[in-house]
Amino acid sequence: MIKQQDCIALDEQDPLAGEAGKYYLPEGMLYFVGNSLGALPLAAAQRVASIIRDEWGEELVSGWNKAGWYSSPTRVGDKVARLIGADAGEVTVTDSTSVNLFKSIIAATGLNPQRRVCLTDRKIFPTDLYIMQGIEELLGDRFTLKAVQRNRIADAIDDDLALLVLSHVDYRSGDIFDMQDITHRVHEAGGLVLWDLCHSAGIFDVRLNEVDADFAVGCGYKFLNGGPGAPSFVFVAKRHQKQINQPLTGWMGHADPFAFNESYESAPGIRKMLCGTPSVIAMGCFEAALDQLLPVSIAAIREKSTKLTRLFIDLMKERCAGFGFTLISSENDAIRGSQISYTHENGYAIMQALIARNVIGDFRAPDCVRFGVAPLYTSYMDIWQAVGTLKTIMETEAWQEFQAQNMADVT
Ligand SMILES: *Cc1c(COP(=O)(O)O)cnc(C)c1O
Repeated sequence: MIKQQDCIALDEQDPLAGEAGKYYLPEGMLYFVGNSLGALPLAAAQRVASIIRDEWGEELVSGWNKAGWYSSPTRVGDKVARLIGADAGEVTVTDSTSVNLFKSIIAATGLNPQRRVCLTDRKIFPTDLYIMQGIEELLGDRFTLKAVQRNRIADAIDDDLALLVLSHVDYRSGDIFDMQDITHRVHEAGGLVLWDLCHSAGIFDVRLNEVDADFAVGCGYKFLNGGPGAPSFVFVAKRHQKQINQPLTGWMGHADPFAFNESYESAPGIRKMLCGTPSVIAMGCFEAALDQLLPVSIAAIREKSTKLTRLFIDLMKERCAGFGFTLISSENDAIRGSQISYTHENGYAIMQALIARNVIGDFRAPDCVRFGVAPLYTSYMDIWQAVGTLKTIMETEAWQEFQAQNMADVT
């Protein structure tokens, strides 16, 4: 049996224990949604205040040069590159993940016009699917979407494949695809791969260039703590940058925006993935979050993430068995992301009862309760307390009072 004292001891020995104080969380809140919206880095609050007052306020339009606003998409991109195993000049920060998916998928499939199949996991995060459906509508018979079950992906890689789009970590279960193996198989078949790193960046030691990845995207607001709606990142391997064309040919992706030429000519490098003017305040917030994260060892983060999710699973077995929860995350530490998910027929009401007691997880329809762990600010004792609260809710059936409630807009 795991005891409270064991969790206290794990916190005392935690090499990342010093990080939590650099993030703001409301008093008494146990926060398990860092995989959806990361907590506020204290340094980001200061940076944003300074950008507004000292840069926008004092420098006004000269901020584009003097404060480095113009170069921010590639400067911040180079910082993200260090977290995902890419080189400088291969990543830029701009737009949302959805928009970057649109640009990258069209750019990637354009590299191999003889092939038209775009393969994906049919249970991939819906925005990825919707964007591919929209592209199919737009490109007609030049693009055929093939969405298959997760366990059929490997079999579906064949000589027709132009592009495989996969989320490295599944948003529902947290299961991980083997990036190296899959990328290799697709290359053998003559295709390309786009990795969605939304649930990986900042948690895994992702090594895009080591696995020879082609394209990648990911958001800034989950484990990277860049703030609600933070700009997202897009990676294009150096070897593809010259040949690709992306469809949103705005002036910021032009070779010389301030020449004000009448015809579009794309920038030579990663800047060609840009479209319009960067969102400077949001970018500054994200950059401050990255500056705080970059000195921390990703290996230590991944190790703690695995131990936290392991503890969650083990405590649930000991304390919440028999309450009808079915674990859908992998028991295998090596293929489990930084979250634990269970299905339960009363999942929504149970989660509302937890939230009412300041244990914040989330719910994914139809019946999945999720608990993300963020090693920078989640402690072992947080998990001890969360599982204890859940046990009380189940024993007392306190969730019943939430059963008739309508779902909120954001679950
Ligand atoms: C969170 C998430 C997104 C979010 O896309 P936005 O454009 O930022 O809303 C996309 N894909 C995956 C896999 C995600 O987990």
